[in-house]
Amino acid sequence: MSLLLGCIADDFTGATDLANNLVRAGMRAVQTIGVPAAGASIDADAVVVALKSRTAPVSEAVAQSLDAARWLLTQGAQQIYFKVCSTFDSTPQGNIGPVAEALLAELGADVAIVTPAFPENGRTVFKGHLFVGDQLLSDSPMRQHPLTPMTDANLVRVLQAQCRRERVGLVEQRTVARGAAAVRQRLMALRDGGTALAIADAISDDDLRALATATRDSRLVVAGSGLAIGIPALHGLSPSAQAAALPPPRGARAIVSGSCSATTNAQVAAFLHRGGAAFAVDPLRLAAGDDVAAEALAWAAAAGRLGASPVLVYATADADAVREVQSRLGAARAGALVEAALAQIALGLVAAGVGQLVVAGGETSGACVQALGITQLRIGPQIDPGVPWCHAEKPGVHVALKSGNFGGADFFTRAFAALA
Ligand code: ADP
Repeated sequence: MSLLLGCIADDFTGATDLANNLVRAGMRAVQTIGVPAAGASIDADAVVVALKSRTAPVSEAVAQSLDAARWLLTQGAQQIYFKVCSTFDSTPQGNIGPVAEALLAELGADVAIVTPAFPENGRTVFKGHLFVGDQLLSDSPMRQHPLTPMTDANLVRVLQAQCRRERVGLVEQRTVARGAAAVRQRLMALRDGGTALAIADAISDDDLRALATATRDSRLVVAGSGLAIGIPALHGLSPSAQAAALPPPRGARAIVSGSCSATTNAQVAAFLHRGGAAFAVDPLRLAAGDDVAAEALAWAAAAGRLGASPVLVYATADADAVREVQSRLGAARAGALVEAALAQIALGLVAAGVGQLVVAGGETSGACVQALGITQLRIGPQIDPGVPWCHAEKPGVHVALKSGNFGGADFFTRAFAALA
């Protein structure tokens, strides 16, 4: 079966976010970790290839993205959706511009829209300027991001500075508001004037739908996850439980938490408050060489503990405790020790019969997915915005990968109810 849509995401949680939006709008979606093997084929309407290319050197990001595009084309994808961050996270060198230019050339496309807008999540673009809630991107906390500080909200200027060959233009909101035909006309005019990349304004879901409709036949679109809400309908699909259908859940329930965000701290506290069974991982004991992972697994395996009531294994700690640990071990070493231990614990829990696993923390999720040997995730029903249940055929588990800031306070208990 041919893919309707092929997607390339420049990071892991961004890929999940996009796949989640596609599923909610009625597409069956699978997320792959990296580019699948040449002969592999996947039964889905959309495949999202998750790369780790956002801050990679430009040449690596371009090469990985082209590999992904070529694989998606072999699966019959008519359109390539290059998923970027909704805050347009990039470095002065790229990689949004260089990857977009390379994809245009690879696909033989002459013009593509670029829009990180996602009004539902407070990301709007007006006159080419990106707003985060009520603030310009450049006034938002993004200006202090450790890897990709965004100090200019004018996306035409930001993208143009990253491009080597192509000119960057703008499709203004007053055009988008007139509908898909007006957008198409504007894109043709830009193309005829020698402009190949067009930042597209969008301040509402209607704007995103008009952009999706206008670019229905475009070989390439570059967007945050927002544009995806308008695409399934163009293929005659509508929201359905079927799109989010996963195999029936099985096995015991567990949570592994390595996020130290305020949100995750509150979720751990709520779980403990309700009397949930929990094991705390102490980074200082890991550094001293104690086999804390084995202890945690022995604790979990103790009579009757693994089953329908979830167990929680956590390194989650508040900011003061984390600072204290980091001052003794260094931030990088502390992080690596905890990630390795939690990944080993996730693997041990699955071996002990856990079939429904929630992981809290972006880096922690990456470490656990890798330890479990997961290469593909079928995307299922959403638990909370941006966090769906997924199913990994190998090794046969349901997983929910929660990035730190996501989810309500009762996420750890509600998640399992959402799957049942
Ligand atoms: P988030 O999505 O909230 O950013 P991540 O898993 O990406 O969560 O990052 C949290 C990092 O903090 C990981 O590297 C993890 O190993 C580390 N960590 C977890 N618990 C502790 C702790 N108690 N002390 C120090 N570092 C910790």
